[in-house]
Amino acid sequence: MNIDNKKLIYEGKAKKIFANKNPEEVIVQFKDDATAFNAAKKSTFEGKGELNCFISETIFKYLINQNIPTHYIRSNSKSSFIAQKVKIIPLEVVVRNTAYGSICNQTNIEPGTVLKEPLIDFYYKDDNLNDPLLTIDRIILMDIISQEELLFIKELTKKINSILMVFFSNIQINLVDFKVEYGRNQNGQVVLADEFSPDNCRLWDMKANNGKIESLDKDRFRHDLGDLIEAYSEISNRIKIFISST
Ligand code: UDP
Repeated sequence: MNIDNKKLIYEGKAKKIFANKNPEEVIVQFKDDATAFNAAKKSTFEGKGELNCFISETIFKYLINQNIPTHYIRSNSKSSFIAQKVKIIPLEVVVRNTAYGSICNQTNIEPGTVLKEPLIDFYYKDDNLNDPLLTIDRIILMDIISQEELLFIKELTKKINSILMVFFSNIQINLVDFKVEYGRNQNGQVVLADEFSPDNCRLWDMKANNGKIESLDKDRFRHDLGDLIEAYSEISNRIKIFISST
């Protein structure tokens, strides 16, 4: 499908969303661009879009097979897929299994601490406000979603985490944390949306030696820890081997 003559609906930091012929569908196209620290750091990595598209698609299909509602519909090209047209709920839902990143800067929890149970944090998706951490009461006060839907999202996110912890441990990866977003589709149903790629999670290689952390995710770009494409390709290759063996 030629994307050049499609109408661009939205352009984000790492993806473009195009209208599809069917008004209930959109084309999600992954870009090679990478940003960090609210776009203060920017770069382009040839091949990142295709890798993130493959990883996201595979994970969405895997979750759908486990009865998780997502916006994913079908493949389209190497760097794009077809998804349900949704209205994104302006919450960044972060799951933490191991403490790292912002939680360690804001609390006395040491980096690398394995949490007794997964922590779900909600952030307000607003670049102008720098995506602030929210409380449940603030979410209700701001009228972002109802209490029932918030509870639904929390439970669904926990379920996704349980499924993906096992998925990644099968490929010798520790799923440290990740960010997901939800959207409301044309039927009013809340579904997992956006993407699931190493741009939005921390993936530590369990094969790493000497107890040293080996990041196979966007921390490589954030903190100049090594070749980003090498890491994303490693994730993609391990997923391919795992999928073909199941
Ligand atoms: N994350 C994300 N987008 C954001 C903020 C965080 O995808 O705007 C992801 C990030 O990649 C990590 C997890 O959410 O996997 C937790 O991020 P954290 O709150 O620790 O923030 P950071 O330390 O990355 O600033």
